[in-house]
Amino acid sequence: MTMAATNPGEAAPPLAPEHRDGAIDALLALGSELEARLLELDDVPLLLVYTHLTGDETLLQAYAPHIKGAWAFEVESVPELKQRLVKALIAAFADYAASRRPLPPAPDRDQLQRMCNAAAGSNVPAEYMPMVIEELNFDGTDAKTVRWRKQPSAGYLSRFMAVVIGAGYSGLAMAAKLKEAGIPFVVIEKNGDVGGTWLENTYPGIAVDTPNHFYSYSFRVKSDWKHYFSKGPEIIDYIRTCYREMGIADHMRFNEEVIAAQWDTGSSRWQLKIRRADGSEYAMEANAVISGTGLLNRPAYPDIPGMDRFKGVMFHSARWDHSVPLEGKRVVQIGTGASGMQIAPQIAPKVGRLTIFQRSPHWARRNPLLFAEVSDAVKWGLDNVPYYTKWYRFLLLWATSDGVLPSLRKDPAWHDPDHSLNAANAAIREQLVAHIREQVNGDEELLAKVVPAFPPYGKRMLRDGNWYKTLTRDNVDLVTGPVKAITETGVVDKDGVEHPADVIILATGFRAQTPLWPIEIVGTQSSIREAWAGNNPRAHLGITVPHFPNLFILYGPNTNGGHGGSAVFNSECQVRYTMQALREMIEREAAVVEVREEPFEDYNRRVDAEHAQLVWTHPGVNNWYRNAAGRVVTNSPWRLCEYRNLTAEFDPAEYRILRADGAPA
Ligand code: NAP
Repeated sequence: MTMAATNPGEAAPPLAPEHRDGAIDALLALGSELEARLLELDDVPLLLVYTHLTGDETLLQAYAPHIKGAWAFEVESVPELKQRLVKALIAAFADYAASRRPLPPAPDRDQLQRMCNAAAGSNVPAEYMPMVIEELNFDGTDAKTVRWRKQPSAGYLSRFMAVVIGAGYSGLAMAAKLKEAGIPFVVIEKNGDVGGTWLENTYPGIAVDTPNHFYSYSFRVKSDWKHYFSKGPEIIDYIRTCYREMGIADHMRFNEEVIAAQWDTGSSRWQLKIRRADGSEYAMEANAVISGTGLLNRPAYPDIPGMDRFKGVMFHSARWDHSVPLEGKRVVQIGTGASGMQIAPQIAPKVGRLTIFQRSPHWARRNPLLFAEVSDAVKWGLDNVPYYTKWYRFLLLWATSDGVLPSLRKDPAWHDPDHSLNAANAAIREQLVAHIREQVNGDEELLAKVVPAFPPYGKRMLRDGNWYKTLTRDNVDLVTGPVKAITETGVVDKDGVEHPADVIILATGFRAQTPLWPIEIVGTQSSIREAWAGNNPRAHLGITVPHFPNLFILYGPNTNGGHGGSAVFNSECQVRYTMQALREMIEREAAVVEVREEPFEDYNRRVDAEHAQLVWTHPGVNNWYRNAAGRVVTNSPWRLCEYRNLTAEFDPAEYRILRADGAPA
């Protein structure tokens, strides 16, 4: 029994070509133009489409030696093979058209494995196959959808209410699934629109650094991304489109902020306090609360002596003031993380002088596709060739996810532990340094300032979008070390030198170690801040916390992908798990679902043990992942498939599932 949509007829996303009647006839109708069009597409996704449609692996084998990795630029061009592939694919299309047989839904497990291996240019471990099948969603039915096992009681459901906090990527995914299931819910969003962090961050140069064909919902694939790494406005457009197609407008409460949630044992419900935009407050009850407030939501403001004295304009990168012209101005930027590295190259050409304060350097990698536009030819392929989008997604998933994780593992016998972790990590370091040296034109003094001492990936690996080149500009100064003070007129460095400023940009990051802050959440024994004292947030699978019944956290503690992957992928795992928990609760007509201490402690022990082996606990690294006690509280130590497997099946044995009278449900 599916959890069917309650409002049929609402806007649905366009069908992918493999599910569109007549898609193959339309391709063949292009006649001789079809060959030319196919020749312009990327070899490997086309190869996978051909293998998928025909089962013939001859071309896969012929191509395999020319594929060094999953990025398009890691594939050697072999024109005669491409010609063969395109001709064979057209013949396969003609065969399907003549026989009128349906397209195959998914390759069988063994063939899928061989296809993934060849396409990735390396062995894709077998445990990835379930994840690949559901992520690519071959049959278009969303394998991650949770289905009712028995008809829920209409009376119980009519008294049920779930509150989702936040309408960013995670909150909307949750809302879409609640809607499909017919579970009553509202979404409370403090802003006037959907989008979360992508709505709030509008700084110049804002863009994603995970390729969008993967950094998007698996159940709402978009074929016409303009860039591989999209700019903020395009991502917001995508989120808004998804939101419209989800048909959840009736459930939304915009410009309202949840400020408190208190568990009431008597009613087994959360008592919420919600503040409207005009400052007035109202109360609301909910059976379940699902936080989609995200990790990178609340700006972190530094505590620098004299900050309040500054007479110019000062704002945080996540609260960009577009009314402030920067042309010709003396601008000081504090912070060189992901935001700072995107901002400086955009503003440097127009400001008078840009002084950048770098407390400690980050590593940044180049990617030839960072600013590249997706060609019209590829967009056509994604939109018209059956399964092309799916295989494209697999390649980008693989290129940006777990391949690097083994190189982030400490080798106890490694001879240079201060600078790298193992041989593979040292090789990455070498490549990165060579890239930086080339970008700074061999300026050894600058090189010494920007090459981190700690191993690659110790802080988030950033993408070099002309960052190093920007530092070589005549109107840009890089000041290293901490900020000593801010005066009425500028920023003082560690040596006491004042750098004059008309505008100060605080690219100083987010309060990532205090998830759910500033909401006052009080469970059965304490507040969440007390439970997480010392900035030590912990949750079972990053989602549930003992003594906080019926509370589910999306993008919670230890779920940030530090080595790669996509936050959207992780949140879809969390949404599925939460839906399964709610199903368990609703089918049993239970009042309480609360994780037990033992599995929670056991899970966190495993997280910590894994982290002890990984780069983020390296003694030479300061990062926003680790709290003052040295525990990594934000990042997941798991490969994507491991986190998927851990969260794929909600295990009721790990929970207390109780009726309102306290008896087991
Ligand atoms: P961030 O990575 O936390 O960087 C903050 C920067 O400010 C760091 O350079 C930090 O120095 C510096 N800083 C903080 N407090 C300071 C102080 N009191 N004095 C001097 N310097 C100070 O923040 P972010 O750049 O906003 O990025 C946060 C996360 O958001 C990223 O890691 C990423 O996950 C996400 N993000 C992603 C993208 C993207 O996809 N392209 C873009 C933006 C953000 P230290 O390094 O020494 O601490």
